[in-house]
Amino acid sequence: MRAIWVNKNEDGSQRSDVLDGDAPGGRDGDVDPVEIDVEYSTLNYKDALAITGTAKVLRSFPMVPGIDLAGTVRSSASDAFSPGDRVLVTGYGLGEARNGGLAESAVVPAALVVAIPEALTTRQAMSLGTAGFTAMLCVEALAHHGVGPATGEVVVTGAAGGVGSIAVAALAKRGYHVVASTGRPEHEPYLRSLGATQLIERSQLATPGRALEKERWAGAVDTVGGQTLASVCASTKYYGVVTACGNAGGMDFPSSVAPFILRNVTLQGVESVQTPMAARIAAWDALARDIDPELLGSMTEEIALGEAVAACDRLLAGQVRGRLVVDTHR
Ligand code: NDP
Repeated sequence: MRAIWVNKNEDGSQRSDVLDGDAPGGRDGDVDPVEIDVEYSTLNYKDALAITGTAKVLRSFPMVPGIDLAGTVRSSASDAFSPGDRVLVTGYGLGEARNGGLAESAVVPAALVVAIPEALTTRQAMSLGTAGFTAMLCVEALAHHGVGPATGEVVVTGAAGGVGSIAVAALAKRGYHVVASTGRPEHEPYLRSLGATQLIERSQLATPGRALEKERWAGAVDTVGGQTLASVCASTKYYGVVTACGNAGGMDFPSSVAPFILRNVTLQGVESVQTPMAARIAAWDALARDIDPELLGSMTEEIALGEAVAACDRLLAGQVRGRLVVDTHR
């Protein structure tokens, strides 16, 4: 079985290789293990951090990275799944605390496994992956807090990235007026094709301003963090909602309490790793309903397992448009 294995060198540095060997195992004590023939995985920002060792994502070594996988059940100790079922797994420690998806096979407890919705192919499920799932959690959070298509403009930051692209498409499909913030204006035609009605330059949100700026956003999906998140909060309208899911631009949050205590702004954190199963299934059903398969294709670049390690630098440098899907059998 081929897999990417990340290991430590004697000097403490990290290396990542595609190796052909024993199938990656599950963890001792896994309840109702399900063996999956992995067909597709993905490369997310977090995977690039893990594979390059830029951040401490992997909890032990050697480890197969990959926070997403999709494929077909080979065998199952749980009645909930049968051989041949099409399934996906995202997060829950996959590719962090347990062997992940960048391999031809995986073993995970049944409690982590989601049936792929009928409307999605296995490859489309991974075009979405953790990025799509997270984007949908943000979109659902906006709706939950009362931000609807008629409430006003919604800004998506890091719009040409994976989470950003899918958030733009999902919001536009639901009729929102979507403003895409990007540092890559050359992707304007792409972002407009996904449904953005207006673009703003990333630098407009990256410069510190006043605690409260002119009210503009009814809602926001922020994948960037740092000053960008602070600027978005400062321009959010009375009773507006900001969903914060990413830190592509920094971990800090140089804001003040002003937007929250003077404009009733809600800052909703979004975390996709430990999302409970009922919310997962609801989000995947919403993705299957709301994402146009043709648009999804336009957001997706497919690479081979053997190309995934090299692609990490491009991803970390913010040079990937949309999503990277990995064919684990190539
Ligand atoms: P991508 O690398 O695909 O996209 C990130 C985008 O952010 C880039 O395409 C770029 O968009 C923008 N960007 C990159 N660097 C900077 C910078 N220095 N300053 C401002 N903008 C920048 O990553 P993903 O979409 O997969 O993930 C986005 C973020 O969300 C990451 O921080 C990731 O860790 C996080 N995340 C969190 C999850 C959760 O559970 N909370 C789940 C999934 C992702 P553009 O060129 O358009 O400006």
